[in-house]
Amino acid sequence: RPLVGVLALQGDVREHLAALNDSGADAVGIRRPEELEKIDGLVIPGGESTTMSKLLQIFELLEPLKARLRDGLPAYGSCAGMILLASEILDTRPDAQHLGAIDMTVRRNAFGRQVDSFESDLEFEGIVGDPMRAVFIRAPWVERVGDDVQVLARVPESGGAAAGRIVAVRQGAVVATSFHPEVTGDRRVHELFVDIVRGV
Ligand code: GLN
Repeated sequence: RPLVGVLALQGDVREHLAALNDSGADAVGIRRPEELEKIDGLVIPGGESTTMSKLLQIFELLEPLKARLRDGLPAYGSCAGMILLASEILDTRPDAQHLGAIDMTVRRNAFGRQVDSFESDLEFEGIVGDPMRAVFIRAPWVERVGDDVQVLARVPESGGAAAGRIVAVRQGAVVATSFHPEVTGDRRVHELFVDIVRGV
C-alpha cells in the first residue's frame, strides 16, 4: 500500500485519514518537514486556508512542501486544500501564501457568504457509476484554468447562479475539489487519487 500523508496542521484531517485507509493507502498525519520525505502522496484537507497558510510558515513546511510538489509529489486538496494548491487566489488576505501546484485562479468563499453550505449531485470526469454527492462548505470555485489543467467537474444546471462553475480539476498528479468527498462516505475521489499515487 502506498503511504499517503495528510497535512495535519488544521482542518478535517481525521476524515481524510479514514477515507485514504478505505481506499487502499496507508495514511499518516504530517506536521514536520522531515515527514514529507517518506510519503508517496499528500492530501491537504478542508479547513481555513489563511490559517493553514500561517501554520505552514510557522511549522516551516511551506518551502519544503513547494519543493516536493515541484519534484512531482502527487497531491489532492479539498476546499481549503484546493485554495492552497492554486497559483492565484481571489478574495483572500494579502499575506496568504499558496503552493502554486495547479495553474488556476480560485475565488475563496465564492458561493456567497450567506450560502454557508449546500449539496449537489455532480458528474465527475473519469469516475463512472452514480453521480457524485458533493458537499460544499464555504467553498471556493475555479475562475480560470491554464492549458495544462483538466476540468473534472462543474456545478450542474440545477445549481442556480453557480451553474457551470468549475469545482474539480487535475494537473498532472495534482487534483483539487471545491467540495468535501471525505465527509460523504463516497470513496471514489480518494480511490482516484490513490491510483494516481500508485502511478496507475
Ligand atoms: N472558506 C474556507 C477557506 O477560505 C474553506 C472552507 C473549507 O475548507 N470547508 O479556507
